[in-house]
Amino acid sequence: MRVHLVNPNHLSFGTGVITPRWLYVIAAATPQEYGDPAVIDETLKRVDLTQIQSGDVVGIGIHSGNALRGYEIGRMARERGAYVVFGGTHASLYPEEAHTFGAAHATVKGDGDVIWASVLADCAKGTPQAHYEGGRIEAGQFLPARWELMPPKSYMWASVQTVRGCPKHCSFCSVWRMDGQQPRQRASDVVVQEIVELRRMGFRFVVLADDNFYSVTLEDVNLATRQKDAHRLAELKGLRAGRFELMARLAELPGDMVFFTQITMEAAEDPEFLDAMRRAHIRGALVGIESVTPEGLKAVFKEFNSAGKDLVHRLQMFRKHDVHVLGSFMFGLSTDRPETFEATRALAEEAGVAFAQFVILTPFPGTVDFQRWEKSMASDPTRIADIPLTRYWLIPQGLRPKVYMPHPVMSADEIHRRTQTVWDGFYSLSSIWKRSRCVKSLRRRLAFVLVSKLYRQMFANTGIGTDSASESRAANWARWLPKPTRLLFQGAPMPGLQVPLGTPHPAIPKSDSHIM
Ligand code: SF4
Repeated sequence: MRVHLVNPNHLSFGTGVITPRWLYVIAAATPQEYGDPAVIDETLKRVDLTQIQSGDVVGIGIHSGNALRGYEIGRMARERGAYVVFGGTHASLYPEEAHTFGAAHATVKGDGDVIWASVLADCAKGTPQAHYEGGRIEAGQFLPARWELMPPKSYMWASVQTVRGCPKHCSFCSVWRMDGQQPRQRASDVVVQEIVELRRMGFRFVVLADDNFYSVTLEDVNLATRQKDAHRLAELKGLRAGRFELMARLAELPGDMVFFTQITMEAAEDPEFLDAMRRAHIRGALVGIESVTPEGLKAVFKEFNSAGKDLVHRLQMFRKHDVHVLGSFMFGLSTDRPETFEATRALAEEAGVAFAQFVILTPFPGTVDFQRWEKSMASDPTRIADIPLTRYWLIPQGLRPKVYMPHPVMSADEIHRRTQTVWDGFYSLSSIWKRSRCVKSLRRRLAFVLVSKLYRQMFANTGIGTDSASESRAANWARWLPKPTRLLFQGAPMPGLQVPLGTPHPAIPKSDSHIM
């Protein structure tokens, strides 16, 4: 019985931007008795069905964006006599759908790291169960990925997870509902061990693929202090100390390493944390800005963010600490007006964010927004390719609408067109060149331009393009650009690199030492 793990994608580029971590984690969860699993990432190349034999197990991880392709693979694999198992966020939300459309024998809900061995044992006996409950495992049970199974010279950035879960509750996001609001933080030893392994292979750039790297804010700590909640305070201090300990360990890694993560804007109020990030070579962070107005932030339950001048100031704080921001902005909120688009672009420029993404509000399954939208659509008979709009991920890619949520004053076309204009303006060559001043040498500025263009084209390819011709142009660019870009990120392998022992340092940051 051979195990195949498949990351579905409707387009293959030969080179990937970020390693799909789940593939190599589930590979690590596969017991040795089944041999090394075949790991197939369709962002690199299509799955070769002739390699799948009767009695094999095909594990397919899906999110809503690639579920349709995943179901296609599931049906084909089952036709070849294999056991088909679906996991991932979408299969956790809609297990029955994977059975109906993907010919699944089994689905796994929640974290797969621990339950996977039981799924395989049942398949080996010929008695897979229809549903498995992986639950939310403890941080100590997260498995390190089996990076040695990765095809060489295929990805630009590696990915390592340091924490799962986010304490916030944004209405458009499913992370806090899927991974929970209690941060599950890995010990620094295992994280650093994995990063060293990746650096030995030549990866200089690593994404800390966390739901929210800044899981404890200063305000959380102050609130627990004011409330005299000793238990909560000890818990928060422990988590915060863990972050500083990890960053101190990262700081001891080779100086050419670059990390990128995802944090909330509140980190701008925490200079000690930003300084630690800089020392740890965390040079960039995705910050969810969403809206530049207080009304917009209220609409998405993100009042903890800033708006207007205060927002500009906060974003500039990251830059002052050498942390470059990839700002994520959202259009199509009910509070948006035609002038919001240009105001957002202007603010992004003024705040000095290095990169930006401008996404259209979409009701993603598992979110509060989706629940509300689905309810509001109960009496709407709209079907495309015989699929109701509320199951849009089952509609063939080319037929899917680009905007789903009705807006009080703008049409879907207008929102889409104005969003496109903001992308074009922000990523015009002259704007990119101006922004490239955030790096020093000419070589780095050219690299900045290349990466900006790649980022723009990859997004164009995922639905921002205005028509099928521009989407196909974007796909061609996205095929051509990654190869030279990967070389920019590659480092010389360091096979002899040792795991830093960790110099003694105070685990508790100075700012917390006065508390209680
Ligand atoms: S959008 Fe970010 S901050 Fe909000 S819940 Fe999701 S991960 Fe947390």
